[in-house]
Amino acid sequence: MAKLLEGKPIAEKIKEELKAEVAGMKKKPVLVSIMVGENAGAEAYVKQQKKNAENLSIDYQFQKLGADTSEAALIETIQKMNADSSVNGVIIQMPLPPQIDYKKISQFISPDKDIEGMHPVNIGKIVFGKAKLIPCTAQAVMELLQATGVDLYGKEVVVVGHSEIVGKPLALLLLERFATTTVCHIGTSKAGKLEEHVRRAEVLIVAVGKAGLIKGEWVREGAIVIDVGINRVEDKIVGDVEHEEAFKRASIITPVPGGVGPLTVTMLMRNLIQAAKLQQS
Ligand code: NDP
Repeated sequence: MAKLLEGKPIAEKIKEELKAEVAGMKKKPVLVSIMVGENAGAEAYVKQQKKNAENLSIDYQFQKLGADTSEAALIETIQKMNADSSVNGVIIQMPLPPQIDYKKISQFISPDKDIEGMHPVNIGKIVFGKAKLIPCTAQAVMELLQATGVDLYGKEVVVVGHSEIVGKPLALLLLERFATTTVCHIGTSKAGKLEEHVRRAEVLIVAVGKAGLIKGEWVREGAIVIDVGINRVEDKIVGDVEHEEAFKRASIITPVPGGVGPLTVTMLMRNLIQAAKLQQS
């Protein structure tokens, strides 16, 4: 039987540290959140960000642009934020309307204000182990692993999913800790090799977005399982791992919801405070 690794208590502890950091700053850090068009999911995430920010005495400024906003107009808004020294961090809410390419516009956010850690400069710094602003979900997973007390050195770690925002940066962070890191993706599944890799994992991290992709019986006895996936099945939210069966085999497993999620927003706030401190120094 596994131990359930919940994100909330870890997030609460980090928030206390962040509160103390903000209290010691000359000026309240300012986060500008930009949303283009309407989206119920994004609105809910904005609400959550705002609540977290206010709790930490962070000034959360929300800007909503029309659904017909052009890429050029959004870039202009971003450049205004870059030039405004009162703004410490910028986040562009997803999803964006089809006329806007996130990969393109995210490169216009100043690397110093890129609190999602997605600017090529910040991603590149992860390769050299010098990153200050790291993608929030990847950081959240590393915090959860730290909370387990696992020594990653030489461990068989399998990451399923290789997105730019989660799997790839996470794999680099794991390599920095000398974990033997295997990254699985759609090619692995299509080659029929996903099960084989998952069965080897002493630490398994899954970030795909497909309910039940990882069969509980594939989980190695005593493994640590971090389930990043969020899937709506009927009226329930579930992860990518068959939780009940995996729970019987793992030593530690995160719940969905309540595992990675609560830490991701906290990491966004930590990035903002980090950005403000970097700008002040
Ligand atoms: P993406 O859709 O960007 O990436 C999914 C990844 O999974 C891709 O690398 C894809 O590979 C891979 N993949 C797809 N199908 C398979 C398969 N059958 N076998 C193996 N790999 C596969 O999603 P994100 O990385 O943004 O998010 C992943 C999940 O994590 C989602 O459920 C999302 O909601 C959740 N999430 C949760 C957060 C939290 O705070 N808890 C935060 C961020 C995300 P390829 O591209 O080659 O097809």
